[in-house]
Parts: sequence; structure tokens; C-alpha cells
Amino acid sequence: MPEAKIGIIGGSGLYEMDGLTDVQDVQVDTPFGKPSDAIMVGKLEGQAIAFLPRHGRGHRISPTNLPVRANIHALKSLGVEWIVSVSSAGSLKDNIHPLDLVIPDQIIDRTKSRVNSFFEEPDAPVVHVGFADPYCPLLSQIVYEAAAQTKGAVHKGGTYVVMEGPLFSTRAESNLYRSWGASVIGMTTLPEAKLAREAEICYTTIACVTDFDCWHETEESVTVDMIIGNLLRNVDRAKAIVRKAAGALPIERTCVCATALRDAIITSHDLIPPEAKERLRLLIGKYVQ
Ligand SMILES: [Zn+2]
Repeated sequence: MPEAKIGIIGGSGLYEMDGLTDVQDVQVDTPFGKPSDAIMVGKLEGQAIAFLPRHGRGHRISPTNLPVRANIHALKSLGVEWIVSVSSAGSLKDNIHPLDLVIPDQIIDRTKSRVNSFFEEPDAPVVHVGFADPYCPLLSQIVYEAAAQTKGAVHKGGTYVVMEGPLFSTRAESNLYRSWGASVIGMTTLPEAKLAREAEICYTTIACVTDFDCWHETEESVTVDMIIGNLLRNVDRAKAIVRKAAGALPIERTCVCATALRDAIITSHDLIPPEAKERLRLLIGKYVQ
């Protein structure tokens, strides 16, 4: 299989990655099933990149039904250490406008029906990974600096509310999240960020703002048409940021993500069944023999 240190997860509107050379479509199978689609591996700015369209080509898979464990595991199996995810989002603040970008630094989890961990099966070891800072600070800074070199506004930091969907929020919910001081709302980035941390992969999100959700009194309420129109205008910018960031990543990782599992596995290693060890080998193999 080809290898890549950088993974890109494309959200709505971002189903292909232009500018890749030496491209191979790789079908990956994992102990958690098949990922959303074939992974496109190629070269960008001299670096190997693995690109995965989150919802599959043709946007077939809803946020709730995404095979997120397979997606993260598949990227890990290709050698990915850094994931830049691109997600569409609604603004919850007056000063964050449609077509702005936000590189969030916090998350509020309002999902209800998702698998959140690689360690949920009854035979899996009990694992508690630190998640106080859900996005990699190092990668977020690099992506922010790359974004600041492109045309248009970018906001550094902010809280991303992840809702279950597939319907958009009610006005009362939207106002509640505003009262919490949150910046943007969307339906992805979780459980991706949690699974990436468990897989010791650095993870950040470029939230592409498409609308003012439904709280804004002078703007129309959000529709799919509005989102797609603004997304397509944002996709080229997101691609340019990925190209710039790819060339700026350090060789060695010094952030906490790289060793997130080291002190997190509580279960006595000799009590982990062999089948669970085998299923989780790519994740825990370096700590559990
Ligand atoms: Zn990191």
C-alpha cells in the first residue's frame, strides 16, 4: 500500500483534491469496516497526501451514518500522522460571516447516535484519553497561518458545536448555543476528532462558514442551496490552504497527540483478549504486546 503522512478529509463540496500528482485510488479494509470511499493517495507540494471524501463521492452518507472508525483507521494504516478536515458550518456570532473560515479550538458535543471510540466493544480495554484540547494546537497554528495567507477572513480559535442532524437547529437551540459563547455549528468534526486522538493522529478542522444558522433576524434561514453555493466558493480556498500547510509541517511531532494512548490504557494488559488485541493492534500494538 502507498504511504502518506498527511490526510485530508473533505466535507460537503470537497470530493476531489486538485493538484495531486502520481495519484492512486486505494481501497482499504479495516477491522471496523470499509471507509466512506476509496482513498486517493498522491503527491502535493512534494509531500504524500491521502484524501478521503467524508460523505463519499456523490455525497451518499449522512453525518450520523458515516463509518468514522473505518475512516480514521484506514488513514492510520496508510501512515497518516496529520489530518486536516474540512467541514461546512453555520455561524453563531455576528462577526463571523458567510464565506469566513474558522479554525476552532474547542468543541461542544451535541451528538446522540454515534460511536465515539475505538474502545466501545465489551472485550476492548478501558481507555481514557485526554481531550481537553480536542484539536492539535500545532497543526491548527500551521493551518491558521496558511489560511491567513489566502484572501478572505479567517478566525483563530472558537467553539464548534457538533449537532446530530440531519435537520438543522431550531431557533431556540441556535440561541442557546449563542448564549454558551459558541462560534459555529455543524454536523461533523465529531467523532472524528475523538477517534483521531485515540489513534494518536494530529487533527484540525477548517470550518467553512456557509450561513448564519437560523438565529439571525435579518438573514434568511439556512437552506441546502445557500450552503452549497457558499461552499463551492470556499472549496478553492480550502484547497489552497491545504497546499500551503502541507509544505509547512515539521518532520517530528512534539505535541501531545503523538503519545495520547501511552498512559491511557487502564485495563491490565494480560486481561485484554487476543481477539481485541488483534483488532486494535494498529492503535495499541506499540504499548500492549
Ligand atoms: Zn498534534
